[in-house]
Amino acid sequence: NLSDRLKTVASYVEKNTILADIGSDHAYLPCYLVHQSTITKAIAGEVVKGPYESALKQVKNEGLENQIEVRFGDGLQVINEEDHVGTITIAGMGGPLIASILEAGKHKLTNVHTLILQPNIHAKAIREWAVKEGWKIEEETILEEHSKIYEVIVLKKGSMPLTEQELLVGPILMQVRTNIFKKKWSVEVKEWERIWTQLKTIPNSTEVEHKIMELENKMSIVKELL
Ligand code: SAM
Repeated sequence: NLSDRLKTVASYVEKNTILADIGSDHAYLPCYLVHQSTITKAIAGEVVKGPYESALKQVKNEGLENQIEVRFGDGLQVINEEDHVGTITIAGMGGPLIASILEAGKHKLTNVHTLILQPNIHAKAIREWAVKEGWKIEEETILEEHSKIYEVIVLKKGSMPLTEQELLVGPILMQVRTNIFKKKWSVEVKEWERIWTQLKTIPNSTEVEHKIMELENKMSIVKELL
């Protein structure tokens, strides 16, 4: 049974697109999408032996070897132009890692029209990368499962200027401001306040001063949304 987190990612995959799921682990997401008849062809990429073997095994057990090809390799290196990949999913990692995978493989994105990304933390890194590389946020959602809060960001090609506030919390998420959104940022603000209090006890230096200003800036940006 697929997690709500991955079901949410799956819900953004358009019908009949060719999918590359990078960091696929057990390949649960592509398997689910083929069973749902959303897609008929996917590539599952993995860079670690254990998860790569789990993916191979899962695809075999589900009898999906003709639809899902499991490939071993780093990030987008597993895809080529001849694959005609239209959609890439990258889920269950930190935002900076997802952004670095996209950055390293950006020459592979010429014909890709949709990126569905699910950062566990620091989604900001993805929004910064998107703005820099000419992708715009089409959809954003936030969900809670097993006491963890996850964000999902859907990118399409296009330009999208974002304010400092939008980069941090998400332009769509801050419009909708669900209870889960408020919960996530209340927890963050508490943590920043804790760090702020600690920094205030350290003898002054420009570095500490800078960190304090950065925290104060983030706190004021976020507090007005709670
Ligand atoms: N995507 C699945 C999910 O959301 O449930 C699995 C998430 S798992 C926490 C992250 C996976 O990404 C691991 O299996 C790891 O080996 C893989 N991974 C990390 N960096 C990668 C990279 N540069 N290229 C391919 N896979 C990567």
